[in-house]
Amino acid sequence: MKEPGSGKRVSRLNDESAWQVTEVPTLRIIDDALWQAARQRQGDLKVKGADTPVWDRRRPKFLLSGLMACGCCGGGFAKISKEGFGCSSARNKGSAVCTNMLSIRRTDLEATVLTALEHHLMDPDLVEAFCLAYAEERNRLQAAASAGRSGLEKELAQVTRDHARLVEAIIAGVPADQVKDKMITLDARRKTLETQLSATPADDPLRFHPSMAKTYRDRVATLIRTLGDAEGMEEAKEVVRSLIDRIVLTPAPDGKSLTIDLEGALAGLLALATGRPLQEVRQASDKQKAPGVERGAVDIIGELVLVAGTGFEPVTFRL
Ligand SMILES: [Zn+2]
Repeated sequence: MKEPGSGKRVSRLNDESAWQVTEVPTLRIIDDALWQAARQRQGDLKVKGADTPVWDRRRPKFLLSGLMACGCCGGGFAKISKEGFGCSSARNKGSAVCTNMLSIRRTDLEATVLTALEHHLMDPDLVEAFCLAYAEERNRLQAAASAGRSGLEKELAQVTRDHARLVEAIIAGVPADQVKDKMITLDARRKTLETQLSATPADDPLRFHPSMAKTYRDRVATLIRTLGDAEGMEEAKEVVRSLIDRIVLTPAPDGKSLTIDLEGALAGLLALATGRPLQEVRQASDKQKAPGVERGAVDIIGELVLVAGTGFEPVTFRL
């Protein structure tokens, strides 16, 4: 409609009571299961962090927002004063839930974590030890994966043939109703098999090199410098965040200060160290952090997680 004064066009929604809502399942761009999973994840995120809905938190306000966890109750740390972070549960839910009332200055925490990211997370000796463990584990996995692959390929061929046969049956006059369910089942199975096959190890594995530690350190230093620039600051912030899995804050034995445990996000750290573009660093990390990442999906990230899980943990540091 036009605005009376200026004559400018303004769009205005009808009153909600006048809306007509019709479910059109065929127009759904994602299926119900995925939608529910996404909703679930949104719910998790909402509980995990502050009370802000997830869509408002895509760009965290502070560098480390949403990455901090209370070492006592496992809940989130959030801004509790002009310059301090503290356990939200201890303050909002009381001492029955959490007694950790200590806080830490934002600037102190950021400085400590950034220094650790640059200087402690990629110790050259650790990198070398990691490369060995990684190579061994990778070989083992690749052998297992290629054995599994031929089985998947055979089944996929069979499923595709069966599906084609049903299509022919319909063309030949068999009522579609009779074979519909079977076709849906076959189609679902085909999709699953294709996903599994596409998730087998990449042909272009991460290449480890003695210079990895140096590459890593140079790139982190650049990122930290960029955090202070107007240009590129947002991306640098996101990449730095993607290198961190969690920062756990626990009262020290003296009860006066917080101990900081920095848990590095291995996938992101290695992507950075092996010279991958910043965008891939973030993707690697997002994949690793995604909920319900299927263990069967043996991709590069899965392997890295597995290696980390076999007792080789170079990336947790008490600061
Ligand atoms: Zn707590």
